[in-house]
Amino acid sequence: MKSVARSELFRELPSVDELIRTPAVCSLAASHGPAAVTDATRAVLARLREELASELLDGPALRLALDGLGNAIEAHLRQALAHSLRPVINATGVILHTNLGRAPLAETALAHIRETAGRFSNLEFDIDAGTRGKRDTHVNRLFRSLLSDATTAADVGTAASAVPPEPALSERSEPKGRSPAEVPGAVSTIVVNNNAAAVLLALNTLAEGGEVIVSRGELVEIGGSFRIPDVMAKSGATLREVGTTNRTRVADYEKAITERTRLLLRVHRSNFEITGFTEQASTAELVTLARQRGLPLMEDLGSGALVDLQNFGISGETSVLDSLRAGVDVVTYSGDKLLGGPQAGLISGRADLVDRMRANSLFRALRVDKLTYAALEATLLAYVKRDHDAIPALRMMRLTKEEIGKRAESLAAQVRSSKFNVEVTDGESLIGGGAAPSSVLPTRLLALSCASLSADELSARLRVSDPSIITRVEQGRVLLDLRTVFADQDPMIAAALARIAS
Ligand SMILES: *Cc1c(COP(=O)(O)O)cnc(C)c1O
Repeated sequence: MKSVARSELFRELPSVDELIRTPAVCSLAASHGPAAVTDATRAVLARLREELASELLDGPALRLALDGLGNAIEAHLRQALAHSLRPVINATGVILHTNLGRAPLAETALAHIRETAGRFSNLEFDIDAGTRGKRDTHVNRLFRSLLSDATTAADVGTAASAVPPEPALSERSEPKGRSPAEVPGAVSTIVVNNNAAAVLLALNTLAEGGEVIVSRGELVEIGGSFRIPDVMAKSGATLREVGTTNRTRVADYEKAITERTRLLLRVHRSNFEITGFTEQASTAELVTLARQRGLPLMEDLGSGALVDLQNFGISGETSVLDSLRAGVDVVTYSGDKLLGGPQAGLISGRADLVDRMRANSLFRALRVDKLTYAALEATLLAYVKRDHDAIPALRMMRLTKEEIGKRAESLAAQVRSSKFNVEVTDGESLIGGGAAPSSVLPTRLLALSCASLSADELSARLRVSDPSIITRVEQGRVLLDLRTVFADQDPMIAAALARIAS
């Protein structure tokens, strides 16, 4: 009896064809296209059929659902056709937040992506010669200018004129006593997918089948499961750990060198510091040892800065140029950390070593696409022009506490209400991205508490608002740091809080 009634209910379901001819559904096709509307209609009907089959719906509930079919199809369309990857407002004060996409790109980088990637480009085409070209030409010239003491920004012309002719292999001199940065045209840079890939390619090229000496104090794991020992194993090189977690002397490296040693490696302690009874071999000591023993010295900087961050109020962070000047042969670093560009892994250093990496078949597997080259080239040009404010991550670092405080006060005045208790207080912003782990920037925070919502609830409401606003919760208050909020997003925060208050 019951099953008869159930099959009757199934008969009340309209067909897809019938439904898409109703005016309500028909009108959706104008904005979403007929194919997507048909798919959505099918999906919504299938869901109803399932609910009937599992007896979740009775007659009255089904009729109610049928009345709302137009709305259900529209809701399904909205969800199915919405982007999953979407912008959020970063009010955490962590500038390089891996969960939030690390460095935002410069406007000029976005424009360069648009102009080169939406059409055809000379990615691998030498326009002057009319022959096949190399994709790394586009950025190598800029890196060379930024990372070499011998060439200055003024020397950077077009790709053709700026790149010095490659010397024949036989003429290529191994820079023995001098650092790569001191030899004109000696610094080469290649680009791979991220810094993890850069470390993998460099280790595989320089040390496969041999040993790499690294300090126990530098066997780091950083977020996203990048562990130096694991990468080393994949590269085919064997790790020779020396020293102890807190103390490693240059003599420890020296004792570990054998005929199997291929490389000395130093790894930046990205997200932690060892304090107290500590000792670390200095870069100068390692350079001297590497030169004496004819071994290359590599440094995984992680967050490689292209400018002296001292000018930005950040101390203790060596730049890529500092390392090369000190005589490190190869430096690996990320494109989307302190550099402020797209996700990429950069390998800069002695041309002969970088050439070997370029010739490694792994390089082909790890290479990056035209979007990355376009964004990177435009970002590097901003450095060449010393236009650091064009790079959002650097601009955010340079914002003063006073500038941020002014915006926070203005926002506070807008959102202060019977519902919100608002205060502007001193606080600290973080660089993030594994840079300068202990270095913070003084800031002013907007501290909110709400009569009817807990801090966690308020933070969640902000997170699910449109656009999503990501905040910190501390001691029962929601904290917003406008250092990492683009100024044109301030009104969006005010609007979201007004909606929550209403
Ligand atoms: C961030 C970091 C990496 C990984 O870089 P990705 O670009 O995220 O792959 C490797 N080593 C160090 C020291 C880092 O800080």
